[in-house]
Amino acid sequence: MRRVGSFFGGIYPKSAKASTAGTPIQLLGAPETLVVPLLQHSGVEARPVVAKGDEVLKGQLLAEAGDAMSAPVHSPVSGKVVAIEPRAHQSGHSITAIVIENDGNDTWVERNSHPDPVQLDSKTILHRIREAGIVGMGGEGYPTAEKLNPPKGITPDYLIINGCECDPYSTCDLRVMIEYAEDVILGAKLMAKASGARKVFIALGNNTPEAYAAIKAKAGSIEVVTLPARYPNGGERQVIQSVTGKEVPSGGLPHQVGALVVNVATARAVALALRDGEPLISRVVTITGQPLSQPGNYLIPIGTPLEHVVQTISGFGQEVSKVVVGGAMIGGAQFDLQTPVTKTATCVIAFAPGENTTPDAMPCIRCARCVDVCPANLLPLKLEAFGLNERFDDAREFGALDCIECGACEYICPSKRPLLQYIRFAKMEIVARDKISS
Ligand code: SF4
Ligand code: SF4
Repeated sequence: MRRVGSFFGGIYPKSAKASTAGTPIQLLGAPETLVVPLLQHSGVEARPVVAKGDEVLKGQLLAEAGDAMSAPVHSPVSGKVVAIEPRAHQSGHSITAIVIENDGNDTWVERNSHPDPVQLDSKTILHRIREAGIVGMGGEGYPTAEKLNPPKGITPDYLIINGCECDPYSTCDLRVMIEYAEDVILGAKLMAKASGARKVFIALGNNTPEAYAAIKAKAGSIEVVTLPARYPNGGERQVIQSVTGKEVPSGGLPHQVGALVVNVATARAVALALRDGEPLISRVVTITGQPLSQPGNYLIPIGTPLEHVVQTISGFGQEVSKVVVGGAMIGGAQFDLQTPVTKTATCVIAFAPGENTTPDAMPCIRCARCVDVCPANLLPLKLEAFGLNERFDDAREFGALDCIECGACEYICPSKRPLLQYIRFAKMEIVARDKISS
């Protein structure tokens, strides 16, 4: 087992993975009505190509990519389009969604499968990844075909398949590596061909021996490396730094140091798309938390409302204070359980009253613990102050845009200051002002 280097900062939060890590993935049946958002990725919304009243097949295109920084969406079931309208979304905003009434027949659209897709040429592989609506399933949602196609003249040196699932509670990637190792490796080979990457790594935490063994058994010539199990070892920049020793420059992108990072679930989605002709219409999600009697990892059709997920796995056994989608450190609390599962929904956590409460913030005592743990080498206490006082130019100068929003600073702060909240605010304002002035 080759262990590689490390990255700056980081923390050791309580893992909270034990209740789901050893549970095999279970299939969760589709509900009667599915809500498929047009925005499940970074970039612009997809454009509908169906209308209310249309009959659709499973896997049929519902909406095409809005532009290069976008991704198409497909129907997770066969049935009828009953509405195209704004619906609750995990981001907390209302996002236009295509609502499908499930006919229960699971009738597939014609699929373009291939027994040995690695034989396809790189352009065809890239095209099929784009057409299948594949985006970063680790939570960032970056369109995968766009990521694999760096600017002209740049050929990546490294493709790193990221299995470092550092978020507390989340074990969906762990189960994908254990149960679908062959698919992950096939996806890695296909993406290596599509991008032209010279060297492929699979990186995972050094605390997941079962996943390591499963991946290693299928990896062939692909190098499997382990990283220290310190949060956020799965951050894109942190994985690159740990595996290659290279630092992505401030304000830069991974391809500037010759690296591409793709999540393991995304790699599996690429294999399904190219080998079986299946677009991205379902994903493995960790459903966990004290109020649930059957926490586990479930393969869920995209567009399934959380309410249906919870009811299908026997409901909440006790009172719930909060439901968070996207992980304990950086996920968002949900106001409405009609919010559907999306391509980027890694983990759903239900908290009981008294758990995960937000204590009152106390004044900063200048202990610098937030500085010590920041993996981006920033000064979180200063960035928070700049956000709070709307000093956005200062926030930019002090590198706010390099913040990866890991929440390590806020986790460690003894004064319980809402550091991430104000840093996010500053980042949003900087980006919004740049858009206006461009
Ligand atoms: S400032 Fe950003 S990158 Fe640094 S610890 Fe806080 S959230 Fe993470
Ligand atoms: S960890 Fe909290 S109290 Fe300590 S310097 Fe940072 S913001 Fe201030």
